Amino acid sequence: MANTEAGAGTVQLENISKVFTGRDGAGQVVAVDNVDLTIESGEFLTLLGPSGCGKTTTLRMIAGFEMPSSGKVILGKRDITYDAPNHRDMAMVFQSYALFPHMSVLENVAYGLRLRKISGKEIDARVEKMLAQSGLSGLGKRRPAELSGGQQQRVALARSLVVEPQVLLFDEPLSNLDAKLRVQMRAEIHALQRRMGITSIYVTHDQAEAMALSDRIVIMNKGHIEQAGTPVEIYRRPATHFVADFIGRANFVTTAVKGHEGNRVTIELLDQVVSLNLTQPPASSQVEALLRPESLILRRDSTLRQGHIESAMYLGSEMEYMVRDTQDNLFTVIQNNPKEDELYHEGEAVGIDFAHETVHLLPVP
Ligand code: ATP
Repeated sequence: MANTEAGAGTVQLENISKVFTGRDGAGQVVAVDNVDLTIESGEFLTLLGPSGCGKTTTLRMIAGFEMPSSGKVILGKRDITYDAPNHRDMAMVFQSYALFPHMSVLENVAYGLRLRKISGKEIDARVEKMLAQSGLSGLGKRRPAELSGGQQQRVALARSLVVEPQVLLFDEPLSNLDAKLRVQMRAEIHALQRRMGITSIYVTHDQAEAMALSDRIVIMNKGHIEQAGTPVEIYRRPATHFVADFIGRANFVTTAVKGHEGNRVTIELLDQVVSLNLTQPPASSQVEALLRPESLILRRDSTLRQGHIESAMYLGSEMEYMVRDTQDNLFTVIQNNPKEDELYHEGEAVGIDFAHETVHLLPVP
């Protein structure tokens, strides 16, 4: 990370760890293990990983709901590790919305401003502007129970944004919404965050959400950071087998290095010779090639590695095949936007080709 002066909305996690002690002192869980991470001012960063990897605990330590066992949380230049949540200049949007049920939409959104002892006139103006920006105009007098799930989450977002915090924290905010509304709300969050430029830290299980929203994604595994990178880096150039397997869908083929010169490596893959650049020289004589399903190309060509279609699923914009080759490897292949005469059928023999430039090499796990 560049050693520039931290902006006001920069969040730095300095070697934070969280160890939970089980009840009656039985067993310890290292939920977060020495995480070192800088979230730049205005950046949208998502913590992603399997259940139990420590993403919620990390978010809760940033919010102040959980104290780190060691390490520091810095906001701008201020050490906030032990500050109370309401003294951190941060707001959190929860999965459960956490609205006050007895208050109207107006009162819910105004709540944070009232606590800050802002004048009634200014509160009215800011709340009205926020409701308009959030697509809630005309709903101010309703109670949360009189709103749809999507509208309730808009109120929760408006309530967080109206106080203009330096950092917005999101704990799976869209997981209670149906699939279509999730996609719509994700676009709204994206537009709102870009417009307001607030540093945002987002926790989700949903890969598509992470890809769509984030400047950077942090993949966590067993309490540590496996990789931090842009969505493109994470998808195209995963650092480890774990990341490649976790993000999107992956076909892996372990193969021998036939030769290398510096970082340029030659391998044999599916009966073809492929020459590729590695960021580091190969650490061993074997590498693992990652082929995303959309990088594999099926052709009626008997000179290619042969296989047969085990299953074919039509998904509208794409076809998804399971293809078993003559060496008993099973591949997932996606054919985007196929014409009807390009479709393959179950049981059909096919040749398996691939786009060489899309192959990514990983160390053998
Ligand atoms: P999920 O996606 O399921 O919410 P997560 O990645 O957010 O998972 P955390 O909730 O941060 O994971 O939990 C990390 C680990 O810490 C898990 O093993 C969890 O059981 C444990 N843990 C979390 N909170 C506590 C607690 N209060 N006491 C004991 N262990 C805890």
